[in-house]
Amino acid sequence: MSIEACREKFKSFLADRSLRVTGQRMAIFDAAFSEDAHNTAEDLLDRARSIDESVSRATVYRTLPIMTESGLLREVDIGRNLKFYVANHDNQTQQAQVVCLDCDRIFEISAPFMEWYRNTVSSNLGLTPVAHRLQVHARCDIFRETGRCRHRN
Ligand SMILES: [Zn+2]
Repeated sequence: MSIEACREKFKSFLADRSLRVTGQRMAIFDAAFSEDAHNTAEDLLDRARSIDESVSRATVYRTLPIMTESGLLREVDIGRNLKFYVANHDNQTQQAQVVCLDCDRIFEISAPFMEWYRNTVSSNLGLTPVAHRLQVHARCDIFRETGRCRHRN
């Protein structure tokens, strides 16, 4: 889905919840969609402020859950004190992550079997799945040999 289509989806999602389309909210949207990277809320605050300096931290922290609920952002938790957010152009829900422990880079991996897996294991227990997470935490082979992680820029 193009950024324009995502922007329209965000606006209609806000409208459906009787939330106003404000310059601040759209600056946060643009910050999140300007790069296909894993951003923390603070990263997005900095970038949103470079677009619209009136964006407040509170607005960022209120807007990110709305964007996550709309499916436009995916929240990625790799088990640290920080959550990461990644733009979700295609409403992708079947993702896994491989995290390089030598440089902290997060790779997004398509994991279509997750849909089947989560549904099967949940329904066998009489449960309906609402979220799932699959992550591999790994070490870099080249780092072990040379002291330089090949994933680091
Ligand atoms: Zn690495």
